[in-house]
Amino acid sequence: MANKKEDQPNDYKFDTKLLHFGAEIDETTGASSVPIYQASTFHHHDIFSPPTHDYSRSGNPTRQALEDYIALLEGGVRGFAYSSGMAAISSSLMILSAGDHIIATEDVYGGTYRLLSSILTRMNIETTFVDMTDLANVKAAYRPNTKAVYMETPSNPTLRITDVAGITGWAKEKGLLTLLDNTFMTPYYQKPIEQGVDIVVHSATKFLGGHSDVLAGLAVARTEAIGAQLKQLQNGLGTVLGAQESWLLMRGMKTLGARMAHSEISAAKLAAWLMSRSDIPAVYYPGLLDHPGREIHEKQSTGYGAVVSFDVGSGERAKAVLNKVRLPLVAVSLGSVESILSYPAMMSHAAMPKDFRLERGITDGLLRFSVGLEDIDDLIADLDQALSNT
Ligand SMILES: *Cc1c(COP(=O)(O)O)cnc(C)c1O
Repeated sequence: MANKKEDQPNDYKFDTKLLHFGAEIDETTGASSVPIYQASTFHHHDIFSPPTHDYSRSGNPTRQALEDYIALLEGGVRGFAYSSGMAAISSSLMILSAGDHIIATEDVYGGTYRLLSSILTRMNIETTFVDMTDLANVKAAYRPNTKAVYMETPSNPTLRITDVAGITGWAKEKGLLTLLDNTFMTPYYQKPIEQGVDIVVHSATKFLGGHSDVLAGLAVARTEAIGAQLKQLQNGLGTVLGAQESWLLMRGMKTLGARMAHSEISAAKLAAWLMSRSDIPAVYYPGLLDHPGREIHEKQSTGYGAVVSFDVGSGERAKAVLNKVRLPLVAVSLGSVESILSYPAMMSHAAMPKDFRLERGITDGLLRFSVGLEDIDDLIADLDQALSNT
């Protein structure tokens, strides 16, 4: 038998890395999954040589396995696990200081918008929101105190595309830190660090966890220097993920490839079916031939994902559809084994002022369908009955 420790997870293809990431077999017992080290503190057998982990906020072996796992998948040097996606995002942004300025994409996740527009502002960290589909807008927002650019592509919920390498190239010239929320694509389809992004953040609650049963966030650093800063912030802020959740997340991540591949095929079928209907004014899916930015997306991603947004024409009709569907969960969130139908105007983007929301195409008739693993024919038949007579 080959010694597992001599294996090189870095040399494997992505689907293999998902199962063989280095910690999949417990070294001590040979157990087939990472043990859940449900301990807050660690005994010093010898006071002169302290244990690797001494206190679980600063480090826990189960969380460490997850952190190494996501760093491997994203191709970064160091990973971090947090109690939620927002904990990952807020902790990472604490790298900035009072007086700094951020340029962020205008259709950023609702919770991130709230963090940037009403919490960080109290710490005198200001954000300018721009349409990032055009690099000129990003350049125009630059100020002498700009320190970071925050991206999300494809964006939520209208799946707008940002040219990641275009932004990181410019940001490097200006000495700016770049962050990217990779929740929608996951490293299965998109590895932003390869495009020069400094910090990749995730709501692992979504596709990475994949089963609507764990709330978690992850961050990955491109360089050791940034990794050291994130480590200090994670420990100092105490926004860590617990051992049970770390284990559960790894449990879900092992099937990421199979889930994404299956859901993407179904999402493409759903998008095509919606496009063929005359009663749907707009369909948003990066895989559609005329989706704006599709060519840029194809340069930086290997797939289109499992989220399809569409406009049913009015708020009344959207609510009627939500009440009539039988298969999808009608809920906040996405990226699970079961399909989830969300209503951005009243759910994920409720925190956004209405005029700001409408300007970004998040109309009262917009629905967001996260395609799960059900048979697509059943999902389409269900949506068909929900759309008819509404
Ligand atoms: C859900 C989500 C978040 C926030 O993550 P939580 O785990 O809910 O804290 C951030 N970004 C995106 C794109 C999301 O979908």
